[in-house]
Amino acid sequence: MVAFSVLTRATTLSYRSAPTIRLASVSRHFSTSTVTMAPISKETDFLVIGGGSGGLASARAASGKFGTKAMVIEGQRLGGTCVNVGCVPKKVTFNAAMIAETMHQAKDYGFSYQETAPFDWTTFKHKRDAYIKRLNGIYERNLANDKVEYVHGWAKLLSKNEVEVTTDDGTKSVINAKKILIAVGGNPTYGPDIPGVEHGLNSNGFFDIETLPKKVALVGAGYIAVEFAGMFNALGVETHLFIRHDTFLRNFDPMVQEVVTKEYERLGVHVHKQSSSVRVDKDASSGKLTYHFTEAGKEGSVADLDHLIWAIGRTPATKDIGLEAAGVKCNEKGYIEVDPYQTTSVENIFALGDVTGQVELTPVAIAAGRRLAARLFGPPEFSTLKMDYNGIPSVVFSHPEVGSIGLTEPQAVEKYGRENLKIYKTSFTAMYYAMMDPEQKGPTSYKLICAGPEERVVGLHILGLGSGEMLQGFGVAVKMGATKADFDSCVAIHPTSAEELVTLK
Ligand SMILES: Cc1cc2nc3c(=O)[nH]c(=O)nc-3n(C[C@H](O)[C@H](O)[C@H](O)COP(=O)(O)OP(=O)(O)OC[C@H]3O[C@@H](n4cnc5c(N)ncnc54)[C@H](O)[C@@H]3O)c2cc1C
Repeated sequence: MVAFSVLTRATTLSYRSAPTIRLASVSRHFSTSTVTMAPISKETDFLVIGGGSGGLASARAASGKFGTKAMVIEGQRLGGTCVNVGCVPKKVTFNAAMIAETMHQAKDYGFSYQETAPFDWTTFKHKRDAYIKRLNGIYERNLANDKVEYVHGWAKLLSKNEVEVTTDDGTKSVINAKKILIAVGGNPTYGPDIPGVEHGLNSNGFFDIETLPKKVALVGAGYIAVEFAGMFNALGVETHLFIRHDTFLRNFDPMVQEVVTKEYERLGVHVHKQSSSVRVDKDASSGKLTYHFTEAGKEGSVADLDHLIWAIGRTPATKDIGLEAAGVKCNEKGYIEVDPYQTTSVENIFALGDVTGQVELTPVAIAAGRRLAARLFGPPEFSTLKMDYNGIPSVVFSHPEVGSIGLTEPQAVEKYGRENLKIYKTSFTAMYYAMMDPEQKGPTSYKLICAGPEERVVGLHILGLGSGEMLQGFGVAVKMGATKADFDSCVAIHPTSAEELVTLK
């Protein structure tokens, strides 16, 4: 049933984002010479465009669980953004950064060692690439196990039931599909409209860096910029982070914004506040970059940069995929409009994941994909199943980690009124730091936002060591509608940082 695959023969891990150069890049990165191609089916019941988090989950559930004839079309590498240029390689790099931090702290616990060489980024990077490549293969095998037909190529809608696929050798085929899912995700927004913008990398380019840089600049205040900056800094790279306001992570609770921005400065990240981009120059002989900017109204520049990374947002991948031909509508920001059941403006075409701009996280795309498959192809009891976009926990792998679920304090005030809220907060030094000199000690801050007389927890915000792992369990409680009394009724686990969340006064 599997049509053909060239994925495991990929010789490079480069990942592209510009639709206009698709075919050239694909043929560069995927050799088709030794591939045996089975004919692509002319018809399918469920055609999924995009083999990323949401698309794969949906197709596998449709076929593997409910026996529907399903097909996935993917133009790049299976696994999408998360596996190839997102969550996975990012978290592996974060782990390396955490080891670097731990090594610095180890001396305070009585360990003595000498670093004989700087961090070997190149070896690390190649190992990380090999891991991702293994994952690509696993994803492909999973599709085969679930009997999903996999076509490596680019898809374009021709009408509400017809999709044209262009495979690597340029061959075009038209597939007739009863139902179509668009799960094409998004691409990094390239950079501001300034001279020299092309000298910068985007977040995909971060994963192509071959050698440990000495000096980098990142532009952006979202979680991607903040995570990359934290990793570079922990690995000993001189790191400049340019933000437009006074704090970063501006979608998070003010406590998170303020404490983590301050902590980055304390850790040595050069945070340039109130800044905007002016120009990027590249030295022809050394290849080094100079970034010109304004900071609080004054002009400045940082020279000798090995890399400049634009991390200023993401753009849905809706260009040139035939949405108009099929009658699928987008909103003013280019995201595909869907109803609560992920149905687009066309009744047999669905969309989910980043391309809908709802909550742009992998588990959200996966959950939406599985629910959609169950609703469309499962037994009648699933016929009203849909994704609940409320109360989704999210973590930032910053230094320290941040975890958040529910409303921020300003959002809660707007929704419930200040007089109906009770806010519990604490800041302390985690026991891990007890053995350390003051300059090694990182912050820990927790906030619970409770609403109404029953004090239902409507927001939980944590930052500090281990927050990423901690949040999942607390997320279950918040999602179940736990109150402050429920939190307090759970006996503390001692000695942990998490115990502070069930003993807040
Ligand atoms: C640097 C970074 C770090 C991240 N970290 C995290 C994290 O820690 N945790 C988390 O939950 N989320 C994280 N994310 C977000 C996460 O990666 C996305 O939310 C998730 O991948 C969205 O899944 P999706 O299925 O909507 O799209 P994607 O995973 O982007 O998949 C879309 C796929 O569609 C393919 N495609 C596009 N157009 C076509 C076409 N015309 N024909 C065929 N194929 C096509 C693309 O090649 C792509 O493979 C991160 C993202 C980035 C960029």
